[in-house]
Amino acid sequence: MGERIGFIGLGIMGRPMALNLLRAGYSLAVHARRVESMRPLIEAGASACGSPAELADRSDVIFTMVSDTPDVESVILGENGVLAGVHPGSVVVDMSTISAAVTRRLAERLGERGVEMLDAPVSGGEAGAIDGRLSIMVGGAESTFARVLPLFHVMGENIVHVGGHGAGQVCKSCNQILVGATIVAVAEAMRLAQASDVDPARVRAALLGGFAGSRVLDVHGQRMIDENFEPGFKARLHQKDMRIVAEAAQELGLSLPSANAVARYLDVLVGQGLGELDSSAIYLVLRDLSREPSAHSSLPSGIG
Ligand code: NAP
Repeated sequence: MGERIGFIGLGIMGRPMALNLLRAGYSLAVHARRVESMRPLIEAGASACGSPAELADRSDVIFTMVSDTPDVESVILGENGVLAGVHPGSVVVDMSTISAAVTRRLAERLGERGVEMLDAPVSGGEAGAIDGRLSIMVGGAESTFARVLPLFHVMGENIVHVGGHGAGQVCKSCNQILVGATIVAVAEAMRLAQASDVDPARVRAALLGGFAGSRVLDVHGQRMIDENFEPGFKARLHQKDMRIVAEAAQELGLSLPSANAVARYLDVLVGQGLGELDSSAIYLVLRDLSREPSAHSSLPSGIG
């Protein structure tokens, strides 16, 4: 196939996304800090690169799927980063969830070198990444979006060009507000049912067919009923996303009280050492609040 692909960040999400590109017949170069992260890709036919610069030198389209804003900055701008090896005419596609403001600055830096950038964060979790059924929200130039679209189709199903640079990341922040606030609402509903001696499983079943029905009620409601918080989407990553929302709100002078409340629940959960649990474990914080009224005093203001 035509475009030579490079992929940096081979974790829970990046590994299956890169594997899908390889299986679709694209030539693939990979880079990770830890050799063991690259091994499954190399065994499947990808070539390994010693640095992001080397990978960029050998690729036409460079994907990044790392953890947080500083990680994308270091992969692109750092020593032996993408910027040190990339050629004019190549495209950098960042699929991590990071700050929209930093994304715009990175797009500008790459643009000075004749390199286009897209921000393309995703929703759909590990299962969506494995099945190639992610939702992909894209920011950047229309022509660059059209060029990368065939590659997005390998990784996702619902692919929307939202707007200019950073618009994909803004869309992802909107997604995280909706998911987080709905998790809190479902947790409160499950608690009310339980405390009223009404079976939460039957409440969930009744509500799923009505106006309150949602994927969060379906999937996370069941997790709360079973008290099974295997991730899923780790609470510490959702906490990171709500920090990105809070920073954007502050820059824009916006008040987003529901987003603040979600962030506080996640701060408590992660502060209890439970950041590796699924973010629907917010339910545990709420449950402990009603069990131990004295716990209110130890919680940040805004919840309890
Ligand atoms: P993950 O399993 O922790 O993987 C992150 C990968 O990024 C690791 O393989 C790590 O490389 C690499 N990395 C991190 N910092 C790096 C740096 N400074 N330089 C080079 N490589 C670096 O995380 P994930 O779940 O795949 O999430 C990746 C992104 O997708 C995050 O922004 C997350 O918010 C977003 N996301 C996740 C989900 C989900 O359900 N998991 C859903 C939607 C969006 P090494 O292996 O070398 O350490």
